[in-house]
Amino acid sequence: MQKVIIRKTEEIENWRRNITSDINFIPTMGNLHNGHSKLISTAKNENSNINLVSIFVNPLQFDNKSDLKKYPKTIDNDIKISFANGADAIFIPNTDDIYPPNNKNIKFLKASTELSSALCGLNRIGHFDGVCTVVYRLLNIIKPKNLYLGEKDWQQLLILKHLILTKKLNVAIKSVPTQRDFDGIPLSSRNIHLSKDERKLIRFFSNELLEAKKNFQKEKKISIKEIIQKLSVKKISIEYLEHLHPYTLQNSKDEDNISILAGAIRCGETRLIDHVFLMKRSPIIAIDGPAGAGKSTVTKLIAKKLKLLYLDTGAMYRALSWLLIRENIDYKKEKELQNILKNISIIFKSNANSHQDVFINNYCVTEEIRSREISSIVSKISSIKEVRKFLVEEQRKIGKSGGLVAEGRDIGTTVFPDAELKIFLTASIDERAKRRKSDKKSKDSQVIDIHKLKELIKKRDFEDSKREISPLIKADEAIEINTDGYLINEVVDKIIDLYNDKIPKETQN
Ligand code: C5P
Repeated sequence: MQKVIIRKTEEIENWRRNITSDINFIPTMGNLHNGHSKLISTAKNENSNINLVSIFVNPLQFDNKSDLKKYPKTIDNDIKISFANGADAIFIPNTDDIYPPNNKNIKFLKASTELSSALCGLNRIGHFDGVCTVVYRLLNIIKPKNLYLGEKDWQQLLILKHLILTKKLNVAIKSVPTQRDFDGIPLSSRNIHLSKDERKLIRFFSNELLEAKKNFQKEKKISIKEIIQKLSVKKISIEYLEHLHPYTLQNSKDEDNISILAGAIRCGETRLIDHVFLMKRSPIIAIDGPAGAGKSTVTKLIAKKLKLLYLDTGAMYRALSWLLIRENIDYKKEKELQNILKNISIIFKSNANSHQDVFINNYCVTEEIRSREISSIVSKISSIKEVRKFLVEEQRKIGKSGGLVAEGRDIGTTVFPDAELKIFLTASIDERAKRRKSDKKSKDSQVIDIHKLKELIKKRDFEDSKREISPLIKADEAIEINTDGYLINEVVDKIIDLYNDKIPKETQN
């Protein structure tokens, strides 16, 4: 496809008529650096859409007019960088194109009051209103499918997310982690204004934040006071330094697993912002739902794509059931059961085919636990109090430091009630029976008549959802996804989008 530069709003319409793919839109104010390159190349590599980069210095978002005047303009280099990193088109309008004089159709917008009355909003009056106005205008002109934004301007990203939601715009925000320079400071067009000494100060500031993040991983707490003291010694002029909830921007509470430490400082004439996300543990995704809803397939793919640990809790209940039958244990007798539970180890190991094997007391049971015999007894055994107590503890041990996606029946309600994302995966009984019948893992299911299979699934649903302890129910905050008629990859992509909406990309490395 021929690369184009578009300068007029009307030309966008013509250009759009001639393209057949969706658009990835990367708005910029020019003076592109590696942070922008990363945005453009990420958009390029993530999908096969057409990439449009805009270069427009929006006067409305400058609360300080001298800042606007001296905003660096490097248009020829910007064009080179954009095309070199995967832009298919560059939109370079002038101010009258975006804000035609006397055009009453232009909506001047107000940013979310809650989100813009924290951090930068306190000192940059009207800044976020200007950002909302220009982005809304550009989105209406360009009509992209995806909007690529850097997490460097985290507050701006939240405000634009809110704008898209409230204006019901059909565009998805894709975020890209903050890109840092060799010395740890976030890349920013304003960095070129820094003198050598000023750069040293911002380096000290950014490194303090990065240090606080490292300490937080160990100690699970931070002291803003101490950081401010250290910055004061260096005579760094702090505009704000706050520890907040990353999505509401309200003060962080003890129970928040992820929080943001965000600050702004002044170095001479230049104002710079930086932040880090603090995490008590890595994120957890809980996927619950009835048998045959597609949990295993979906969960495994998500684990692979997001580089998370995959925890199949059903396999643990199955493995334990297998052992109780094999050892002929009368599991209705509490003492007998408790005795055996004392000496049980269930572990997962990746095998040569990059699948997971399940071992109980060092014996591999991957295949055997999928038999009809186990499927028909496992719900009974999993309703026993001692069994649940034992396995829930084991599961929590595995998930102690997070970084996993777990599937089961009670993950979001009991095992990891503080999971960042909870999904309740369902499908109609017909669909689930069909899937079980073609499940290569389950040799027995393949030979059972479909009507019989349906009866067996219904029976298991009943037992799982009616049991007294941790029954199969949708957790309050869980998002229900009915997988009928959807391809596996569509479900996986939907869940990954939901995850990215709740977890900053910066924390996902
Ligand atoms: O997911 P799978 O079908 O392998 O699970 C087998 C059984 O294990 C379920 O039907 C249910 O009785 C039990 N189970 C449970 N809680 C979980 C996971 C599975 O009770 N978290």
